Amino acid sequence: MNEPLRVLIAGAGLGGLCLAQRLHQAGVDVLVLERDAGPYSRAQGHRVHIDQRGEDALRACLPGPLFELYQATRGQPSERMMLINAEGARLQEVPLPALPDGTSIIRTGRAVSRNTLREILLGGLDGVVRFGKAFTRYEQDGGGQVRAWFADGTSESGDVLVGADGIGSAVRGQRLPQARVEDLEIRWIGGKGPITGEIERSLPDGLEHAFAAVTGMDPAMMIGYMRFENQPRPTAEHLAPDVLLTDTGDFVMWAITVHRDRLDASDAHLPGPELHRRALDLTADAHPAMRRIIERSWPEQTFHLSIGTTLPIPAWVSDHVTLLGDAVHAMPPSRGSGANTALSDAADLARHLITVQQGSSTLLEAISAYERAMIERGFAAVESSTSAIEAIARKIIR
Ligand SMILES: Cc1cc2nc3c(=O)[nH]c(=O)nc-3n(C[C@H](O)[C@H](O)[C@H](O)COP(=O)(O)OP(=O)(O)OC[C@H]3O[C@@H](n4cnc5c(N)ncnc54)[C@H](O)[C@@H]3O)c2cc1C
Repeated sequence: MNEPLRVLIAGAGLGGLCLAQRLHQAGVDVLVLERDAGPYSRAQGHRVHIDQRGEDALRACLPGPLFELYQATRGQPSERMMLINAEGARLQEVPLPALPDGTSIIRTGRAVSRNTLREILLGGLDGVVRFGKAFTRYEQDGGGQVRAWFADGTSESGDVLVGADGIGSAVRGQRLPQARVEDLEIRWIGGKGPITGEIERSLPDGLEHAFAAVTGMDPAMMIGYMRFENQPRPTAEHLAPDVLLTDTGDFVMWAITVHRDRLDASDAHLPGPELHRRALDLTADAHPAMRRIIERSWPEQTFHLSIGTTLPIPAWVSDHVTLLGDAVHAMPPSRGSGANTALSDAADLARHLITVQQGSSTLLEAISAYERAMIERGFAAVESSTSAIEAIARKIIR
């Protein structure tokens, strides 16, 4: 290809930004179009478990100083999932049910602050990422150009459009109308707050390097610490002074998981403080140590999610519109795999697109090689995450 490659990415989540970082460094003309009005207009979730798959992808895609910053601001090792029983006065660790395939639920990794990771992924992409651009539809002309349209009536054209627009992907809706996302009927209200001495004393020591599901109370709950190896802002000032990171201090994240019938449909849109009150109502009879974590948390940081999973579909014929991450293979969070798989997709797609920029393959060859590997990797992760949620989470969620 003689002209420089132009890549449009719909969605500035973890996968879309990771792809943009690598392409930008390689001199590809890349533009990320994000629906949110700005980087902080919506709570992004609190802690994400990143294992070797995600770490390898970040190493491949981030420039050296940003990767160093990522490593320096990771949290403590995250080695296992644990089950805590909150029946009776004392919290007690109990064995997890075995998974059908005999593997452990999560791969060893690190707790990572999702907000910090996203801020690092946005580093150096001024002018590459545009906010307030909700993708609505695309057109492909016979000459290999794709034109993407946005809700504000504007459009952009490029050689490739990558749908990195998450579980409700509008790009997928047009590209693969046969694809379906199944609502697992689980609703997640999550938040975070400071780690106080009182909270630490009430929780089992083993939680330090684990992520816990709390059962034996209604509703079921998830908890995990996030202890930064180094606080983000001063570390950025030292390693990558152009990147502004927010300091939240160490925190404990919590989530309650309930069947959708126990919430009103409108609860999904409540502001943080009202959702926080909803979580307190739902946990009125919960174990006091658990209720305390919610009581002490920051109300405005409370958010709501619906948990869904993409149903597998047969392979398709590649064209100039492709997908990555949750946009094509969303999965429940039961094995901490969704972000790791989205980052792996991003690194793999970047590698293939760079061969096009270098003139060693055609665009269609590159996209179809990426899609073959992505379909296998993504749907294997969907399958193992879905069977884990059936084996474990359904036992603890009433
Ligand atoms: C509760 C929970 C906990 C999780 N924990 C983990 C974990 O510990 N480890 C792990 O590996 N995974 C985890 N996951 C999964 C992980 O969060 C996702 O798989 C990951 O964020 C997917 O990245 P993505 O870039 O594909 O999509 P997203 O991160 O969802 O990003 C999509 C982006 O597209 C934007 N967008 C949406 N529509 C449009 C549009 N029309 N136009 C333009 N932009 C649009 C969105 O605003 C968003 O910024 C968890 C998921 C949940 C729900």
